[in-house]
Amino acid sequence: MKRRDFVKVGALGSAALITNSCSNTSSSNNEQSILLTKSKEIKVVSTWISGIDANKEAFRILQSNGSAINAIEKGLNITESDPENTSVGLGGMPDANGLVTLDASIMDHNYNCGSVTYLQNIEHPISVARKVMEETPHVMLSGKGAYEFALEQGFKHKNLLTDSSLQKWQEWKDKKTLNLPIINHENHDTIAMIAQDENGNLAAGCTTSGWAYKKHGRVGDSPIIGAGIFVDPEIGAACATGLGEAIIKICGSHTIVEQMRNGLSPEEACKVAIERIKKSSHSLDNLQVGFIAMNVAGEVGSYSMYSGFDFALHDENRAELIKSDYEFEWE
Ligand code: ASP
Repeated sequence: MKRRDFVKVGALGSAALITNSCSNTSSSNNEQSILLTKSKEIKVVSTWISGIDANKEAFRILQSNGSAINAIEKGLNITESDPENTSVGLGGMPDANGLVTLDASIMDHNYNCGSVTYLQNIEHPISVARKVMEETPHVMLSGKGAYEFALEQGFKHKNLLTDSSLQKWQEWKDKKTLNLPIINHENHDTIAMIAQDENGNLAAGCTTSGWAYKKHGRVGDSPIIGAGIFVDPEIGAACATGLGEAIIKICGSHTIVEQMRNGLSPEEACKVAIERIKKSSHSLDNLQVGFIAMNVAGEVGSYSMYSGFDFALHDENRAELIKSDYEFEWE
């Protein structure tokens, strides 16, 4: 589905908090909308509009009694194989040297986690991250080692640079500017996802080609456990998208989970993380970051620095894109 084809935006307004049917949890902002869902029903949320298709596959797995971790992997595989998404897997924008380098991470409800950074020529980094989690005593593999491990595990070498991404990179290079594209909804569809299965277990994952034309060797927040994703089985899960450097500095996803532990709703917790980024960043110009979170009760929320961030929700009742509440209007 293309962004412009999408019609259904959070029916109740610009921001959304999803809560269970027993509690009318409200957040600090009275203008926020509240959508009601059953507690602990299966559900999946993910960043940006590409989350719609990814959620569909993840939800199909949850509906067939699949685990949250399977839903995350298979859902994210959909986006990784989509050549139209230029921030993830096949078709992902290259770094400054013209190389597509991928970051991904995955985490289950038992603190098991795995990630890959700076991985090249493998279409499904999230699946390699899962193999790191399940087949090695490590959490993170990088670069050549991650690639060799992927081949050992049966993944196939594939050229991920599409003609269209190559052409855009060439145009950027010809301009001889060091300017990087602004991370916002028009050019960034990195996908981060949280799922809850029928047992109430949560899992999270994130997969990306990172910031287009990034410096060769750069790794973002997405593969860093605690920054790009985090799951605490007693509390909930959070994920990030946007400027990775700002997210890493405040351990964004872990910060959100800790705020939920202190009693904040998912959206309030995401807002605290955005406020922390405001304090820790020298400039807020173009600094887009979006967080999504889900607690173990199945409540969902999000918050972003600028307008324009949205997340996809799929549960028994709906499959829709919800506009996140935000700190600043994007000019
Ligand atoms: N967080 C990713 C990174 O910094 C980019 C994104 O989410 O769009 O690599």
